[in-house]
Amino acid sequence: MALYTLGAGHVAAGIKSREFSAEEYVCQLLERIEKVEPKVNAFVTVSKEALERARAIDKMIRDGEQTGPLAGVAVSIKDNICTKGIRTTCASKMLELYVPPYDATVVKRLQDAGAIVIGKANLDEFAMGSTTEFSRHGTTRNPWDISRVPGGSSGGSAASVAALECTISLGSDTGGSVRCPASFCSAVGLKPTYGLISRYGLVSYANSLEQIGPVGRTVSDVVSALNAIAGTDENDHTTAGGKPAYSLQERKGLRVGLVKEFIEGADLAVAKVINKAVDTLAGQGCRCEEASLASVQYALPSYYTIATAEASSNLARYDNVRYGFDLSPEGYEWNSYFAKARSNFGEEVKRRIIVGSYVLSSGYYGKYYLKAQQVRSLLKRELKALFKKYDVLIGPTMPILPFKIGEKVDNPLKMYLVDIDTVVANLAGMPAMSVPAGFADGLPVGLQIMADEFQEQTMLVAAHLFEQAAKMQRSPEL
Ligand code: GLN
Repeated sequence: MALYTLGAGHVAAGIKSREFSAEEYVCQLLERIEKVEPKVNAFVTVSKEALERARAIDKMIRDGEQTGPLAGVAVSIKDNICTKGIRTTCASKMLELYVPPYDATVVKRLQDAGAIVIGKANLDEFAMGSTTEFSRHGTTRNPWDISRVPGGSSGGSAASVAALECTISLGSDTGGSVRCPASFCSAVGLKPTYGLISRYGLVSYANSLEQIGPVGRTVSDVVSALNAIAGTDENDHTTAGGKPAYSLQERKGLRVGLVKEFIEGADLAVAKVINKAVDTLAGQGCRCEEASLASVQYALPSYYTIATAEASSNLARYDNVRYGFDLSPEGYEWNSYFAKARSNFGEEVKRRIIVGSYVLSSGYYGKYYLKAQQVRSLLKRELKALFKKYDVLIGPTMPILPFKIGEKVDNPLKMYLVDIDTVVANLAGMPAMSVPAGFADGLPVGLQIMADEFQEQTMLVAAHLFEQAAKMQRSPEL
């Protein structure tokens, strides 16, 4: 049996009942990784300890010890999330030698639930990008068409899940980085409410916007991961929500608002698939109507102002002294040393540091940064009003189909535009997820579902309902 195709629930149940061993399952995954990685390049590092850990779990089960709900389930972790003893590079030269002395809270919680870290997933440098082309470890390729981008910045996470190289993955989503690659790779990806998942051990890009989020092949797998990692963490005082437990319940008569600005801005091929998704939901008894989110027109400039401002401040710590790749500073004068060291950031990261420093500089702060924060409040107010009328808002996750590698890499503005539908949820701190909606020209299209703060359960109900009705599950040929 191809164990690597199974969902998390089946894997854990099969291992616990000793229908198959964690070792067999992990061995199959490692073979699969060896076979498809030359094409997909989803991993920065494949863990050497995964097999040992699988054997330890098998032993626990043989000895009759208690194992968690994710016993033996293999996960990949975006390489900007700290893993004790496994290098965490952020796909940057700056951190190429960094081996964290601790696990991020999410990693610890997954492992406590029995999961096995099978490797670290590729990303755009410091999670800045929408295609996973800005990585020191090469571009990740879309498993559905390897001439195309997998989306980003958690491209390795979504590609590794879609290419059946692991069962679940964790990514991070500052402006769409979990949902965009989930959409492009036909996976399920969720960004939670701000504060629902601990950021302890996530390398910061833009703290006020970002959250860690799970990627899986089904809503059920995403729920399993979410249940393991969500909830308050004493190491991150921005967390809230106690210890939630989500499930795949059913609910009748969901009120669904289709955001008209999202549909109007989408390519025809994408809009067609989304309109069909609306019919599917209506066929399941949802009350669907058009909704308008007028201030979405200000979302992108606001997002890129705030994100770059926070990035410029966060990245100031990479001076090649506290973290670095060449720790022999002899012979340099202070200023030239730092300038030389920091010239090792990639193009996109440098661009963000420069823009971010500019919007925060005296005289411009009020003009840009403050305005951006005002837009943020406006968007949130508008969304709050909509969520009085609707349980969920929907639209395309991405306005376009996965495009060719190299197509937008030299044009930053064109690249930023693809984030139009995803940044809204980050600015408002609200949950949003992408579920596979269909294919256009053989390429995946994702349906985005958004909900009010801490209404993940409602969002998951809608996602599961759609998933069951749309019956879209299939895997790429690799
Ligand atoms: N594409 C967006 C950016 O580059 C989002 C990135 C992210 O969510 N990490 O900022």
